[in-house]
Amino acid sequence: MTGIDDLPVRDELRGKSPYGAPQLDVPVRLNTNENPYPLPEALVDRIAERVREAARNLNRYPDRDAVDLRTQLARYLTDTSGYEVGLANVWAANGSNEVLQQLLQTFGGPGRTAIGFEPSYSMHGLIARGTGTGWISGPRREDFTIDLAAAEQAIAEHRPDVVFVTTPNNPTGTAVPAETVLALYEAAQAARPSMVVVDEAYIEFSHGDSLLPLLEGRPHLVVSRTMSKAFGAAGLRLGYLAAHPAVVDAVQLVRLPYHLSAVTQATALAALEHTDTLLKYVEQLKSERDRLVAELLAAGYEVTASDANFVQFGRFADAHDVWRRILDRGVLVRDNGVPGWLRVTAGTPEENDAFLDAVRDLKKELD
Ligand code: PMP
Repeated sequence: MTGIDDLPVRDELRGKSPYGAPQLDVPVRLNTNENPYPLPEALVDRIAERVREAARNLNRYPDRDAVDLRTQLARYLTDTSGYEVGLANVWAANGSNEVLQQLLQTFGGPGRTAIGFEPSYSMHGLIARGTGTGWISGPRREDFTIDLAAAEQAIAEHRPDVVFVTTPNNPTGTAVPAETVLALYEAAQAARPSMVVVDEAYIEFSHGDSLLPLLEGRPHLVVSRTMSKAFGAAGLRLGYLAAHPAVVDAVQLVRLPYHLSAVTQATALAALEHTDTLLKYVEQLKSERDRLVAELLAAGYEVTASDANFVQFGRFADAHDVWRRILDRGVLVRDNGVPGWLRVTAGTPEENDAFLDAVRDLKKELD
């Protein structure tokens, strides 16, 4: 039997596993930070209508520059942040993972390095590996905030080409203050200068504001976003970035031609027409997130303050064992490999009740 190791795969891929949260058939799935609410029927109809229109032209390649879609994404960012961005500032791809990959293909690559402050979104390191970019694991404090002095020191020492800052951070939920991002930007400019990528996949759930206004006068800053979480459209695969127009020009050097299908563009445009409705679900999820924090604390667990649609809770001598015991109670949460901690995504009130019942019940066994 031929296995991976019998093939001439690149050395850095040998013995590695692909990214993957378990996709288990469990009654309550709170493990992948999805939005639990299906799209409203009116939006489903609008998607069908726009896709039908797009289908009439599927013999042609789609708009390579996704001009309509980028214009509407720019409008959404401007409306929600008060900071004006336009078509030239916005780029879109199939999920923010592809946006991040394009950024590393453009600004990383063989002989270059990227740094992230871990624990953080594990795909940053995996995309680095996939693009031949060296990965540097930067530090965080015990409480999962970024230790600015230690981070500045790591940047000065390693002089990375790309600096990732995830805010709110996954899997911890921790928001990074604007002053910290500014200081990291300054450190990165002094060291190289490098690109600083602020991953705001969960920003709509934050108690604080987007860092988009920091783009002003900072051509090496990129803010990355997604429709997977706040727009409840993880299945759509639509991510985007805002940056100086030169960054948008640069990523076009590596994008595949016609990478965003006409169906994707039509669907995303339909979803953007329903932004107001979708953002109401975000408000509901924020209050459910806050309820999870309060109830976990009341049940005697430790919780990391969260600005995202999930909550990190602990602390456990054996987090994986606790993960399994929650699963035995019909609820799937996530073990991200952070020693002592697990992560639960805010679901519907009923799903969250099921999770809270499970962990309250479990607590008796743990004490
Ligand atoms: N960034 C962060 C911090 C994430 O947690 C995720 C999804 N888990 C992504 C980016 C990628 O999301 P998508 O590719 O669906 O846009």
